[in-house]
Amino acid sequence: MKIVKTSCPLDCWDICAIEAAVENDCIVEVRGDAEQPITNGFLCVKGVKHLERLRSPERLTSPMKKVKGEWVAIPWDQAISEIGDKLIEIKNESNSDAIMYYAESGHNGILKNIDQAFFNTYGGVTMPQGNLCFGAGFAAQCEDFGNALSHDPEDHLNSKTIIIWGRNPVTTNLHLVPYLKKAKEQGTNIVVIDLIETETAQMATHFFQIKPESDGFLAMAMAKIMLESGNYSTDFVNHNAENFAAYKEKIDAMDLDSIVAKTGLTVDQIRQLVALYADQKPAAIILGYGPQRYRNGGNNVRLINALGALSGNIGIAGGGVTYANIFVLQWVDGDFLSNSQAAKTDSAYIKPLFPEYMSAAGKEKIKGIFVTKSNPIVQMPNTNKVIEAFTKIPFKVVLDHFMTDTAQLADYVLPCTHIYEEEDFLHSAMWNSYFIYTQRAVAPRAGVKSEFEIYTLLAKHMQMSEFLEKYPNEKTYLEGALAPLLKDINMTLDEIQGKRMKKEGNDIPWQDKKFGTPSGKFEFIVPDPGSWFFDEEIKASYPLHFITIQPPDSLHSQHFLDRVEGQLPFVYGNQQVAKDWRIQDGDEITVASPEGKIKTLFKLNEGIGENILVAYNGWWLKNQGVNRLTSSGASDLGGQAIFNNCMCKINK
Ligand code: SF4
Repeated sequence: MKIVKTSCPLDCWDICAIEAAVENDCIVEVRGDAEQPITNGFLCVKGVKHLERLRSPERLTSPMKKVKGEWVAIPWDQAISEIGDKLIEIKNESNSDAIMYYAESGHNGILKNIDQAFFNTYGGVTMPQGNLCFGAGFAAQCEDFGNALSHDPEDHLNSKTIIIWGRNPVTTNLHLVPYLKKAKEQGTNIVVIDLIETETAQMATHFFQIKPESDGFLAMAMAKIMLESGNYSTDFVNHNAENFAAYKEKIDAMDLDSIVAKTGLTVDQIRQLVALYADQKPAAIILGYGPQRYRNGGNNVRLINALGALSGNIGIAGGGVTYANIFVLQWVDGDFLSNSQAAKTDSAYIKPLFPEYMSAAGKEKIKGIFVTKSNPIVQMPNTNKVIEAFTKIPFKVVLDHFMTDTAQLADYVLPCTHIYEEEDFLHSAMWNSYFIYTQRAVAPRAGVKSEFEIYTLLAKHMQMSEFLEKYPNEKTYLEGALAPLLKDINMTLDEIQGKRMKKEGNDIPWQDKKFGTPSGKFEFIVPDPGSWFFDEEIKASYPLHFITIQPPDSLHSQHFLDRVEGQLPFVYGNQQVAKDWRIQDGDEITVASPEGKIKTLFKLNEGIGENILVAYNGWWLKNQGVNRLTSSGASDLGGQAIFNNCMCKINK
């Protein structure tokens, strides 16, 4: 038996290090690798399920082609030649950007980016901009700080107060929880702000339950109380910040009662929250994705960032506004990774506006689409429109392990390798600063190929000599893409195999108070809520908020493969909702929004706020698909999907 070091490639904050025990080319056990200090030897249920997915009898083991509406298994050489010929034909008859590219982070890894290098060398294709996950918050942090950098998890132990705002680490960032528990034992206030009384809220010392759409108002109310009482850092705002006077003028002009009324809290509760935050320096804010999944999502996060600056909690141990963390990406040569300079077009679409793009600019232009590492039919908002738009594209190729809802609508599906069948390097661009080597644990299942091999075969068929010369093999690709890392630590690719490496130098971001903004200072937002979008008109007909959250046992839609066909998705609401709509726990109800309707099973949950229905995201079409209810649209910053701007009603 041998022990293989690998890791979890899912789109998760943590990137767990994994040990796989392998005997006769068969994995007999997987467990968390205790040598990795952050993920510390334990996995969540999603990580454990990798083994099931690896072995699943439903895994695709041959390229599939749709012929007269039926799926037919075809040999690889046929798939490569037909797809390659079509790519050549489309480029010759139209342009390379008549091909559209769609990817998410369903399976991370440096080598997985070879598709971008391929399509850029092909001439450049129509690329997505914006994001379904964290785009508005990321853009907001870049506006204010000049970059998105997080405090090291260990640094949270220096905080007197930690505010977890719109994040549920118990489900989505499990390895943050031991730090929170330890901090709590040390006497740190653990404060949760959320729409839902989550498992994280239940372990907190304080919980503030707010209304949907109100994160920005809560931040402004806190700021107003701090400014009125003079409880803020004049040193930081005078020396290290830009736009403070304009920010203060706007907040001063606001009526406290009016902004507090939007939040669902009382003035006294917000004063208590201010006391926990501004009087308990150092204090950290750990932000989740929740507050930025609105049309005003960028503004919401900028207003929360401003609290960090106002309180003087930026650049100090135990402080910060921690959101995503792209520090480790400094170890990657993005140009080599994607060969971006080879593209001869900058054609792009905003990801959460895919249906709108396809009914306007893309209608005549787009002749083909490649989808990889994702299942956009059920992950994108507004499923009905996404299906309509996707179906109209004449040539559709999907790379996946399974026949997902997106794969079902394609013309070709190419089966690719699983993390346990690959050698690669992974990192989290969202939380910690580790780079993790993943060793191949078992040989690839017969019939599947890695993305690197698939794109190399296509390039050979298409005689793309530039691509083949630049990226002749996986080792060359990794050496080029990881050149900054190898230079920094003065090692070769062979020498870093088996290693888990932390990029040092960012445990406390912005300590030198030199920010990456145009002014070189922290930049305060100048808030203008009068220009923001709210769901007021829609509420007359659809009075309930529909909020989708991460399931505890699946990363988005990935683990819904096993849900029974026809099983209805659960929606959760409290007693008040049940009473108002005359429904009971277990009732089958139809939930309708302006975009569509789905059948669901209602479950009582007193942890959910007033006039809210909550469902897990990820349900497939065989289980109704909850994104049939959500709307297309993009946030004020970062092209973020506005999942939380979804109003609905119930029909029993
Ligand atoms: S999903 Fe996240 S917490 Fe779970 S095993 Fe993977 S990296 Fe770890």
